[in-house]
Amino acid sequence: MKQNTDILIIGGGIVGVSAAYYLAKEGFKVTLLEKGEISSGSSYANAGFIPPTHSSPIPGAGVLKEGIKWMLDPKSPFYIKPRFDIDLIRWLWRFQSYCNKSSEENAIPLFYEMQTRSLALFEEIIADEKLTCDYAQVGGLTLFKSKKGFEHAHEEVEEMAKFGIDLKLLNGDAVRKLEPMIRDDVFGGIYNDEDAHLDPALFVEALSKKAEKCGARVLRHTKVLGFEKVGRRITSVHTTHGSFYPKEVILAAGAWSKKLAKKLNLNFPMQAAKGYSITMEKPVEKPRIPLFLGESKVAVTPIGKSLRFAGTLELTGIDLSINQGRINAIMDAAKSYLNGISSEVQPKFWSGLRPVPPDGLPYIGRTNTVKNLIIATGHGMLGVSMGPITGKVVAQIICDEKTDFELSPFAIERFSGT
Ligand SMILES: Cc1cc2nc3c(=O)[nH]c(=O)nc-3n(C[C@H](O)[C@H](O)[C@H](O)COP(=O)(O)OP(=O)(O)OC[C@H]3O[C@@H](n4cnc5c(N)ncnc54)[C@H](O)[C@@H]3O)c2cc1C
Repeated sequence: MKQNTDILIIGGGIVGVSAAYYLAKEGFKVTLLEKGEISSGSSYANAGFIPPTHSSPIPGAGVLKEGIKWMLDPKSPFYIKPRFDIDLIRWLWRFQSYCNKSSEENAIPLFYEMQTRSLALFEEIIADEKLTCDYAQVGGLTLFKSKKGFEHAHEEVEEMAKFGIDLKLLNGDAVRKLEPMIRDDVFGGIYNDEDAHLDPALFVEALSKKAEKCGARVLRHTKVLGFEKVGRRITSVHTTHGSFYPKEVILAAGAWSKKLAKKLNLNFPMQAAKGYSITMEKPVEKPRIPLFLGESKVAVTPIGKSLRFAGTLELTGIDLSINQGRINAIMDAAKSYLNGISSEVQPKFWSGLRPVPPDGLPYIGRTNTVKNLIIATGHGMLGVSMGPITGKVVAQIICDEKTDFELSPFAIERFSGT
């Protein structure tokens, strides 16, 4: 079957669907291909934070020291599956070179700007399209159980103030006044009233329907298998449901993007970082605002009537298997900060793969080698939050318009020759 389309988007996560929405609204003939259901990748049951105040990149100052310590603890939030994989070794080598203050300070304003712009787009889309997705902007609270953690919080508040990010330091009594579920032994926390949260799966599914209403074709259970090129242009895209002949291709396949890009002889460093979530449908008690458990790196999100716990970063390759030990570690961490967390009869367990470049910044833009290809991936821990702005910028690239922000820090080829 021969199918023509102006723009072919690969991937039905938040990035691909946001691009489909903005491009369909511009009147382009758009087709989105998704190998499973819409939002069946990392965009499904993640923590749902839209947190401009959490704008530090994954490779931060001090991460290396902590990472090595965590590697030896099976309950820690970080793990690398031992294996001989040249891509992983190269990635780790580059990653460690970004674990310093100056790289962190370069990344923070970029993430903050993208997230702030995206937050405004979430509000616009949800209001204009009347989407139901349990969106709320009630801020967030990062908690610290240890004195050392709380001391670090002081530094973080001062550091973030340099970038115009307004955070409030609260002692133990003050955090318990905000959230009575917090245990007496929690030392204190950092509060912000800027961050928002939502049910990511509801948002992405609802936005895909709006994109369809604007004329986009959304093809579920259609897997991209390969490409044909003539010179420096993709001429056809082969899938499990025939071939497509697009003018432009947008690769937004999350953690799977690297493998697909290799079929086009494009190689950019990116690792899949697995995380887990546990969702309780109707917990007896839940906090009012989202919490981030500072030492154990666990997110606790009240989403509508449910409560979700999410965490862990495992470099295990494309592997979605669930490690029950890690799930237990997430729940143990939650219980060590909060009272009233009962283990429900049947919580839902989920795993997802974050696409993570070594400097923590996403890849957004055209490539130098394939003329009609745009890549939009690598959003790491913040892909939901930065989804709408990425979709909008992709549409601006296609329309040859000035983009909302400078794209050079996100260039696909930024690691070439390093
Ligand atoms: C535990 C956890 C918690 C997180 N919490 C947050 C959070 O609170 N806030 C936040 O902003 N981010 C969070 N993230 C990160 C966020 O989930 C990701 O960055 C984001 O979902 C990436 O979106 P995406 O559209 O790039 O990729 P995905 O959502 O993974 O979408 C890619 C899609 O491409 C499809 N695909 C792959 N290969 C093919 C193919 N060959 N043909 C067709 N389709 C294909 C996949 O099926 C998938 O649906 C979290 C992630 C995890 C794992």
